[in-house]
Amino acid sequence: MPSSNRRILVTGGAGYIGSHTTLQLLDTGYDVVVVDNLSRGRREAVDPARLREVDLLDTESLVRVMNEKPFDAVIHFAAYISVGESMKTPELYFHNNTAGSLSLLTAMIRTGIKNVVFSSTAAVYGMPTTVPIPESEPYAPVNAYGETKVMVEKMLNWFDQLHQLRSICLRYFNASGADPEGRTGEEHDPETHLIPLLFLAIKTGKPVTLFGSDYPTPDGTCIRDYIHVSDLARAHIAAVESLVNGGPSAKYNVGTGQGYSVQEVLRAVEEVTGRSVPYTFGPRREGDPPLLVADSSRLQRDLGWKPVDSGLNRIVETAWKWFNRARA
Ligand code: UDP
Repeated sequence: MPSSNRRILVTGGAGYIGSHTTLQLLDTGYDVVVVDNLSRGRREAVDPARLREVDLLDTESLVRVMNEKPFDAVIHFAAYISVGESMKTPELYFHNNTAGSLSLLTAMIRTGIKNVVFSSTAAVYGMPTTVPIPESEPYAPVNAYGETKVMVEKMLNWFDQLHQLRSICLRYFNASGADPEGRTGEEHDPETHLIPLLFLAIKTGKPVTLFGSDYPTPDGTCIRDYIHVSDLARAHIAAVESLVNGGPSAKYNVGTGQGYSVQEVLRAVEEVTGRSVPYTFGPRREGDPPLLVADSSRLQRDLGWKPVDSGLNRIVETAWKWFNRARA
């Protein structure tokens, strides 16, 4: 069991994955302070007493927060996440994600915090040549968002070597689902992710567009590895424990190893909700690889993590419960 009494600084704790991990940390007995500028997160997702409304680029303010108490580790979620937006305004992404992370790491070096868990992504691989994808697959991002994460992963290698700042990079596959107790969930504006868009189509009656029907997959739609956000949160806690207990820096894929096509997800949504989803087929979305499935055996072997909430129906059920609470 993870130890309680540990003090964790969470950046981006008002966001989707950050808010779930914060709740799980608190449920498990950790002390948590959240840094978030609320530019995209939800204020109501964070207990006001724990929130420090600070921008990642403001190194001096980060140093002040880090000096509030002796933090054992930082979990760094704060970032922009839209691939499409990153291809329109890459400067925004390099500024916020890469320069923002550098500012955070600088503040950590100044205050002597030596452990960080970093939100990385399957987008570092681009169009992978080996599936399921092992961590040894080379960096080959095909969008600016993925490149911002590669840059931070590389900075972390240097900071380990030169400042003894140890890091675990968690490369998420398709984060999905919501807190089973309905306390927080996915809510982006505008929404770009498949499962909430399928729900919106049910709610509004306006068809969702499925991007591409001619991929080299059994039903012609893209296959992804959907991982429940609660399982992602558990991976962060396992990573913190590893670092705090003296474990080495590492990079891990976080997925289930099981892929589902867009049409299979649509059918699961219809089954769970009992409603039909209006949809049409549209052209492929630029930069979408046909097949992204994780080989997460390294994470399972090293940290003893395994997915427990990531059955597709469980993902859809918890997400649907949250959707009806948040947007009904
Ligand atoms: N997708 C789709 N229509 C949409 C949004 C997504 O067909 O309106 C597809 C997308 O092409 C991909 C899958 O759903 O194959 C998951 O996309 P999402 O944006 O949720 O996550 P990503 O894979 O980009 O991280």
